[in-house]
Amino acid sequence: MTARRLVVVGAGITGLAAAFEWRRRRPDDEIVVLEAGDRIGGKMHRIQLAGHWYDTGPEAMLARVPEAIALVESLGLGHRLVAPATTQASVVLPEGRFPLPAGTVLGVPASTDGLDGFLSPEGAARVRAEADLPPLTVDGDVAVGGLLRERLGDEVVDRLVEPLLGGVYAGRADELSLQATMPALFAQLAGSGSVLAAAAAARDAGTRSRGDVDGPVFQTVDEGIGSLPAALVAAARAEVRLRTPAHAVRRTATGFEVSTGQVAAPEVLTADAVLVAAPAGKAARLLGRVAPGAVEPLQGIPYASMAVVAMAFPAQDVGAGSGLLVPPVTGRLVKGVTVSSSKWPHLGGDVLLVRSSVGRFRDESELQRTDEDLTAAVVADVADLLELSRPEPVQTAVVRWGGGLPQYLVGHQARVDAIRAAVGEVPGLGIAGAAFGGVGIPACIRDATRAVDALL
Ligand SMILES: Cc1cc2nc3c(=O)[nH]c(=O)nc-3n(C[C@H](O)[C@H](O)[C@H](O)COP(=O)(O)OP(=O)(O)OC[C@H]3O[C@@H](n4cnc5c(N)ncnc54)[C@H](O)[C@@H]3O)c2cc1C
Repeated sequence: MTARRLVVVGAGITGLAAAFEWRRRRPDDEIVVLEAGDRIGGKMHRIQLAGHWYDTGPEAMLARVPEAIALVESLGLGHRLVAPATTQASVVLPEGRFPLPAGTVLGVPASTDGLDGFLSPEGAARVRAEADLPPLTVDGDVAVGGLLRERLGDEVVDRLVEPLLGGVYAGRADELSLQATMPALFAQLAGSGSVLAAAAAARDAGTRSRGDVDGPVFQTVDEGIGSLPAALVAAARAEVRLRTPAHAVRRTATGFEVSTGQVAAPEVLTADAVLVAAPAGKAARLLGRVAPGAVEPLQGIPYASMAVVAMAFPAQDVGAGSGLLVPPVTGRLVKGVTVSSSKWPHLGGDVLLVRSSVGRFRDESELQRTDEDLTAAVVADVADLLELSRPEPVQTAVVRWGGGLPQYLVGHQARVDAIRAAVGEVPGLGIAGAAFGGVGIPACIRDATRAVDALL
């Protein structure tokens, strides 16, 4: 085969993993990655905090979906993987702090055990009462919150599911798609008759498919997940052009033309294959001419914005395990606290490193505050939640993620199917990223590989 040029739009994990995979299979091709921003990595980002590399975007990679760990290993960085020292998280409720009940499927209980105390007596009784409801029938996608409120009551949603979904999507249970955010549970609903039975079946199916593998659920990288983008670019031998947004993709007789560059210095790049790995709204703008059928469903995927505040406090004991989930029922500013120094062994010791996030879908008003104001409010909230004895931080940093996480709203899978179908009609054109088959790093890598498979 003669050498070809692949143009990748977007230097986040999806675009870079795709470039890496393409290089493995096509050693002689030219790979150009166009990146609108002034650095590689997209949401993957690390800073120096009190002398440590500290992630301000993704900080943990699911190990049970193997793609991320496998990628780190194939970069020759397996020795840098770190397992958590503790994964015991607690949920902050109006009455106090409670350990997260075990054995749920993203907060959906698989039995009535272990809920007393976490739910009120009435809330726990409401879950038990599902057994008296008519058998469950589900016709297509529904909102997580809608179904669970009806079957199990409000407390399960507000205290258990909302904090977990909020942590992953910065979204709202009442709007997120059951099919897209809990596919394993969704797959079991039809035959199970009840939500509890479906959750138990989903949990057991997950355990069976993992076999006896009993490794850590999550891992990180000791120099930060934010160290991976540079390693990927080097291994992919890709040419990355920073501050070079792609504006449009056009089909030609032999391939594609991608118009790129700053308005003052536009450029047209020819390509044999184009992989769009930019967020959905940007992808919609790029694809108007070449895959018009993808535009509307792409525009139907909104994003939540958030800010991550990273804090270093003097070393002190905090008995909060790996961190706290803070649901909206508490009325708190922060929606979660990760106690990185307890969670990751390489971050323990000389200082207490903590990160906290603010903002969720349709609740972004607090992000209007200045960095100074936001930091002060978050530090106060965290000091109170962790009961810090030395609450004066030695260093802080704010990282804002405008359009940080795509929202998988009801009907998401149908939208994704329509996007993939429209793009799939154009030979040589691909699309992948966090907006489609999962927001986590392993899911993005899986989607990148799927897109490269399809293109090749
Ligand atoms: C605060 C936060 C914490 C998270 N924590 C975790 C975690 O712990 N574990 C986990 O697995 N996941 C986590 N995630 C999710 C995960 O990090 C993201 O879903 C994933 O990194 C997205 O990768 P991506 O490549 O699809 O998109 P992005 O990272 O958004 O990359 C897209 C890139 O495209 C560029 N771009 C946009 N438009 C154009 C254009 N027109 N031309 C050229 N370039 C363009 C952007 O500048 C960007 O660099 C977190 C996300 C956030 C925001």
